[in-house]
Amino acid sequence: MTTNTNTTSNSQAGPSSGSDGKSQTTVALGWLHTAKFLTTAPELHYLPPLEVPEIAFVGRSNAGKSTCINTLTQQKQLAFASKKPGRTQHINLFSLGKQGVMDAVLTDLPGYGYAAVPKQDKIRWQQVMANYLVTRRNLMGIVLMCDPRHGLTELDEILLDVIRPRVQEGLKFLIVLTKSDKLTRSEATKALSIARLQAGGGEVMLFSAPKRKGIDEVAKLLWTWAHPRADSADPDTLNTAQAPRPAGP
Ligand code: GDP
Repeated sequence: MTTNTNTTSNSQAGPSSGSDGKSQTTVALGWLHTAKFLTTAPELHYLPPLEVPEIAFVGRSNAGKSTCINTLTQQKQLAFASKKPGRTQHINLFSLGKQGVMDAVLTDLPGYGYAAVPKQDKIRWQQVMANYLVTRRNLMGIVLMCDPRHGLTELDEILLDVIRPRVQEGLKFLIVLTKSDKLTRSEATKALSIARLQAGGGEVMLFSAPKRKGIDEVAKLLWTWAHPRADSADPDTLNTAQAPRPAGP
């Protein structure tokens, strides 16, 4: 790793320190490791209604989204289901929860194209995202994957414009700067500053799969989002004591 820049900005789930921090990391990683493929949908309206908190992963194709999901869940193939032929434009849902009791879902939204996307595709994608944000009642947070060497694309910017008002209303938002092992220390610092300005009240974290950077911080943040009532107490106790919300029909 070329940098040890602090990866959190105004995060409730800051880096581990002491036994409590360690315990929270262990709980968060153990929880993410329970991820299981739940369902896939070719269109938004095929998504099953759910009552548990939903956290959506979005980003440009090749930004490192599948690698990040697989790394966080410690499962080599989980998000690569999204890369199977015919499934790349699907919305894939993964359930989370200990002892088979679902208490949250991760949603892998289709990666959007490179710079030269046909206009029709851009419009379609904008509509899908806008509809998803408006209609997905259990949506609790969004994780936007961005390769900091390329910065935010036009579609990332469009997405941010849709997300910002929702963040003001309480939607959780995190920009993950992927492949941070490719950055020098000063590039990482600069990328963090720029992304923090763009995040509009959301969080920004550096991430690297091969260097295992940012994994604990992102895991803890997602766990905190999905378990807000457990936020201020010992997660070891509350993770089992908290009554999980049942899945919808
Ligand atoms: P997706 O299209 O957003 O799901 O992106 P992938 O997860 O498939 O990653 C795209 C490419 O970036 C692959 O070649 C990965 O091996 C590479 N990649 C992903 N994450 C990292 C990372 O943290 N560091 C480095 N150096 N490469 C990465």
